[in-house]
Amino acid sequence: MLQSKTVLQVKTPIKKTGGKPKTKPKLKTVAKLKKEADAWWSKATRYRFAYKKDGEYWADCITCGTPAPIKKLQCGHFMSRQYNSTRFLEQNTSPQCYGCNVMQQGKQYEFGIALDELYGAGTAKEMHRLAKIPHQFTREELKQIILDARTEVNFYES
Ligand SMILES: [Zn+2]
Repeated sequence: MLQSKTVLQVKTPIKKTGGKPKTKPKLKTVAKLKKEADAWWSKATRYRFAYKKDGEYWADCITCGTPAPIKKLQCGHFMSRQYNSTRFLEQNTSPQCYGCNVMQQGKQYEFGIALDELYGAGTAKEMHRLAKIPHQFTREELKQIILDARTEVNFYES
């Protein structure tokens, strides 16, 4: 392979073609899709519990009952968002005020009681069990969650 040296002595430099090199379009990472899914899921969840008041959507905080326009509410998780298995489950998420969700760490005990009242006894326990099952999201799965949540949001906003 020593002959290759002569090849490198070619006088004419290789022309640069200019412009950006052609690469495949970048696929969104799982982390990015998860973030997007969180945002759409949050919006859909708040609408799901909402009622109209003075031409605006309102909902009640699941743990303290305080009513507020949904744009001022957050999407609280009974089992923390760190658990993928329950991250996008209707029975694990609900509108919650900033005070309860952030300042009082989600008020998990009250959240659990509210879930059992809403969906039947044992729901909180079931969420707790499901949350502990490890789950890795695929990109396809997250894209489906985004699509479904967006469709739901569009229904309320149209
Ligand atoms: Zn609250």
